[in-house]
Amino acid sequence: MTTQKTGKPLAVLVGAGPGDPGLITAAALNWLAQADTVLYDRLANPSFLAGCRSDAELIYVGKGPGAHAMTQEQINELLVKKTAEGKLVVRLKGGDPLIFGRGGEEADALVNAALPFRIVPGLTAAIAAGACAGIPLTDRRLASTVTFITGHEDPTKDESVINYDALAGLDTLVFYMGVGNLPAIAARLISSGRPADTPVALVQNATLPNQRTVVATLATAASAAEANNIRPPALLIVGKVVTLREKLAWTEKLPLFGRTVLVTRTREQASKLTDQLVASGANVIECPTIEIQPPADLAGLDKALAEIKSFDWLVLTSPNGASGVLARMKHLGLDGRDLGSARIAAVGPATADVLNENFLHPDLMPETFTTRALGKALAAQVSKGERILLARADIATNELPDILRGAGAEVAEAVAYRTICPARLPDDALRALSAGKVDWVTFTSSSTAENFLALVKGAGVDLSALKLASIGPVTTETLVGAGLTPTVEAKKHTIPGLVRAILEAVGSSQ
Ligand code: SAH
Repeated sequence: MTTQKTGKPLAVLVGAGPGDPGLITAAALNWLAQADTVLYDRLANPSFLAGCRSDAELIYVGKGPGAHAMTQEQINELLVKKTAEGKLVVRLKGGDPLIFGRGGEEADALVNAALPFRIVPGLTAAIAAGACAGIPLTDRRLASTVTFITGHEDPTKDESVINYDALAGLDTLVFYMGVGNLPAIAARLISSGRPADTPVALVQNATLPNQRTVVATLATAASAAEANNIRPPALLIVGKVVTLREKLAWTEKLPLFGRTVLVTRTREQASKLTDQLVASGANVIECPTIEIQPPADLAGLDKALAEIKSFDWLVLTSPNGASGVLARMKHLGLDGRDLGSARIAAVGPATADVLNENFLHPDLMPETFTTRALGKALAAQVSKGERILLARADIATNELPDILRGAGAEVAEAVAYRTICPARLPDDALRALSAGKVDWVTFTSSSTAENFLALVKGAGVDLSALKLASIGPVTTETLVGAGLTPTVEAKKHTIPGLVRAILEAVGSSQ
């Protein structure tokens, strides 16, 4: 991987791909992680900026329709200025920087200022749209050429530089930025000799969860776009290859395609659930209803960890509990051997994963991953007078310590982390909820359910219209206590179990 130390001027024109965070290149992410300054566009997915240094200067220079933040000349000047200051400047552009991206002009400005630059190609929208709409842009049977065309120019205007007569004889045509001029483009292609019944596809938001594809003919393209409210960013694909979509369309067949799912876990923990839902085609909105913080008072945990050797069991009831204990052990300068002969009990595989990453392996994990099952499994093992350290959230209930004390154990409790309810829901989540655009809400713990319900209170959200997915019986109890009925409860109380329950409910187990 190419790397560059900061301090020397360098501009890198970087393609961000069509929008799906999985379709940006490793090279692009590498440059973004090093950049002193990032000049970014509207089409680039904002999540790409998450990997930038915390002290990086992020400047939006996007040119949305009708809302030019900066002219191209101003962008060129800024790019030259920042680079000349000795910075590593990443110019992040949607798709590929040189395909209808004016990257050529930006590189030109850098050359004129005698500044060094590099170009990182990106996946251009046409190629991505073809793949995701199930339309091979070339195909031995139907098309030997593909042409990318800007649809930004009105073909009826005298100054159009596009040779439409030449286009009539070519196979596949892909128009970028053509939505506004669609009636004129279609009419001009027909008048140039392209049959009116030539199949066309309009692909909006290619690669994103809200991707939409509308198939029509040249004659009906404009009315189909109007009727289906096709909006930029969208591409027009023209040619016989569009017919292949009938057989090859695949995104629409994903089990959660077209469904919006809210993920209410902490921001840090959301990605695993998000990734699995996205892989099933869902449009996921991350809506953290919990923030994890260290305990307000660490004395209790520190004291317990200092004498951890004297315990027979360390009991961890969540990945956060495990992370909290391990972080504190690290802070106190303890290492794994300081656990001595204390055995470790973990509630489930995610908690075990946190331990495994730190070369620790739980001695006990229940068959079902609930604290009740953990209590029962432990109760069956502990002898009278054994000492158990229970390290968990500040808001945990007495059920588990009661079971263990009932079994004759001596239980010490320490707060390993605090859960806090954020002040408000993220705007995109609230907007989707209020507009009735959310299909499913996932709950991975009682606290996510409690906090979610507290946060939507008074926001005019119709909860009865939502499908609720609960990870297990305790979370379900909380929902039922609030007068709600979960649509599904995971059979296996894990993230994959939760996703499976939703997939089964929507009639697929893919
Ligand atoms: N440099 C970019 C194109 C910039 S022009 C690239 O290589 O892809 C902007 C146009 O690209 C939009 O008007 C639209 O026609 C197309 N476009 C970009 N992203 C798209 C997407 N995800 N889905 C459909 N069209 C897209």
